[in-house]
Amino acid sequence: PRFSRRSDIGDKVRVSFEFFPPKTDEMEARLWDTVERLEPLAPAFVSVTYGAGGSTRERTARTIGRILADSKLTAAAHLTCVDATRDEIDRVIAEFAEMGVTRFVALRGDPATGVGERYHPHPGGYANGAELVAALKKHGDFDISVSAYPEKHPESPDFATDIDMLKRKADNGATRAITQFFFDNDLYERYVERVRRAGIYIPIVPGILPIHNFTQVANFSSRCGAHVPAWLAERFDGLQSDPQTHALVAAAVAAEQVMDLVERGVSDFHFYTMNRADLVFAICHMIGIRAPHAAGSSAAA
Ligand code: FAD
Repeated sequence: PRFSRRSDIGDKVRVSFEFFPPKTDEMEARLWDTVERLEPLAPAFVSVTYGAGGSTRERTARTIGRILADSKLTAAAHLTCVDATRDEIDRVIAEFAEMGVTRFVALRGDPATGVGERYHPHPGGYANGAELVAALKKHGDFDISVSAYPEKHPESPDFATDIDMLKRKADNGATRAITQFFFDNDLYERYVERVRRAGIYIPIVPGILPIHNFTQVANFSSRCGAHVPAWLAERFDGLQSDPQTHALVAAAVAAEQVMDLVERGVSDFHFYTMNRADLVFAICHMIGIRAPHAAGSSAAA
């Protein structure tokens, strides 16, 4: 493939990394190992998710606080408006702003009863991502990422409705959209074309999910409307009891996807790290994103 001969792409590519707030001491230790390993890659920002129904607000804030205090990383706080009044959300925005947070990932969220359950906006709350973006913009001139769905959101009756929501989020001041994960780059490319045709010009940053556990990803995908192609299932077939080969195949699959997107002209990537560094670190290395001390080391050898 053409991309294997390119050595200059690292100059043009920017990455961001997503973490989730750890629940246990052990998970917390793993997250900080991951943060330390990925920090030298100088991501544009890292983000910390917000639990279903706003259940992890404190843990999200604590994790963001430690990233701001113990690293040089720029941290974005995810925020959802599910099951909360406008006053509650406005208070959370103010708290994050007071901590020094200037970036948000603004989301509607899912009902606490689970992904796929019917969503009912809180009667006194913000109804969707677009309203939350407007609320954030009223509070300050934040950098705001929002969600986008190359295969449309499962609740959207059609693409037109789905893209209309993205347009409202962009019109209300969103800086960029980050996509739900996907495995078929043609779907992403077609989606971006639809978005541009609808007059939406913010960056549509692909969300890349390295596959640490194919069975889990396949189960989760069906719930959030992401399609697992038959060729992908075929690649992982029989590897559940062979973690080493599974990890190598996962690295190859993710690298192939990202390199192909680079070839298609994509310059920004958001990685769903699952709080693990290895796969993401390797993929970043392949697209020329290196820690300063590692840059050029192979040329010198
Ligand atoms: P919106 O942008 O408000 O809407 C998405 C689509 O659903 C729209 O196309 C709209 O047409 C349709 N829709 C919205 N409301 C309705 C309705 N009432 N009836 C019918 N259709 C409707 N979840 C978390 O809990 N915490 C996180 O930290 C988190 N981070 C995420 C990060 C990214 C990059 C992405 C892509 C998703 C994330 N999610 C997170 C998941 C997200 O909360 C869910 O996908 C949720 O179902 C939709 O939220 P949204 O902001 O995309 O919704």
